[in-house]
Amino acid sequence: MQDLRNCPECDRLFVYMGRNLCPRCAEKAEEEFRVVKEYIRKYPGATVIEVAEATGVDELKILDWLKEGRLISKGLAKAAVFYCESCGTRISEGRFCRRCLDELNKAVTQTVKALKGEPEKRSEPGESRGRDRMFIKEKDARLGSDDDD
Ligand SMILES: [Zn+2]
Ligand SMILES: [Zn+2]
Repeated sequence: MQDLRNCPECDRLFVYMGRNLCPRCAEKAEEEFRVVKEYIRKYPGATVIEVAEATGVDELKILDWLKEGRLISKGLAKAAVFYCESCGTRISEGRFCRRCLDELNKAVTQTVKALKGEPEKRSEPGESRGRDRMFIKEKDARLGSDDDD
């Protein structure tokens, strides 16, 4: 008895043979895989984004291959793709994209300014002020140079 399924890529009906893709898409995936593998061999330090852009292959597929262990590359392993937790933009590291990081820092700066209205110093051991530490690490230095008043 044949196990018929819908291809998740193109929605065609196909006979399942251990692989959840129709023959046509499977072939296409093989081709893409070959191109990606070839690219990585030439540029071992390339990131997923670079490979995806250079080969035209969806980076999610590349990530899948990495997860499945079919692709092994130093560059890819250490430079996986992340998505900004705020707006979903693709980023290469951290938790937020540049723009959201800026926004967050702006918001933090404003909060800090408001807090600075109080005369007390934050070096105070009081536990209630522990929330002061909610800075976004990356651009800490910039907060200090922001004295436009
Ligand atoms: Zn298909
Ligand atoms: Zn963002």
